[in-house]
Amino acid sequence: MHEWSLAEAVIATALEESRKEGLEEITEIKLKIGELQQLDVEIFKFALDELAETLDEGSLLKEMKIKMEPEKAIFKCRVCEKEWDFGETGLSEEEYEAVHFAPEVAHAYIRCPSCKSPDFEVIQGRGVLIQTIKGKR
Ligand SMILES: [Zn+2]
Repeated sequence: MHEWSLAEAVIATALEESRKEGLEEITEIKLKIGELQQLDVEIFKFALDELAETLDEGSLLKEMKIKMEPEKAIFKCRVCEKEWDFGETGLSEEEYEAVHFAPEVAHAYIRCPSCKSPDFEVIQGRGVLIQTIKGKR
C-alpha cells in the first residue's frame, strides 16, 4: 500500500533532517498533499504514527505533530507553455472526480485552455511534499 511507503519516506526524511540539524526533538512536520495524489488520509496518518514509533530510536518524534495542507494541481501546456489549475479546466464536478481519483485519465478530460492541446504535463500536485520540519535543539 503506497500510504505506508509514503509515510516511511516522510519519517525517514524527518529523522535524517533532524540528525543533520542536530535537533533533540521534532515538534512539527508540515506536509503538502497534492490534489492529484491518491491518498487515503486516515491510513496515511495511522501509518505515520505507527512508523514514528517503530523507526524512532531516540524518542525524537515523541511530541511530533503532523499538519497537512492540500496542494493545488498545476498543469503546463507543452505546446504554448501556458500554466493553469483545475479552476480553469472547465471540468464538471463528475469529470473532476474522475480525474481526482485517477490522475492518469487527466489527459482524456483536460485540454490546454489557451491552445486546446492535450499535450501537457502536471507540474505540481502529484505528490507528498515535506514543507517544513520544526524541532528543538
Ligand atoms: Zn497550450
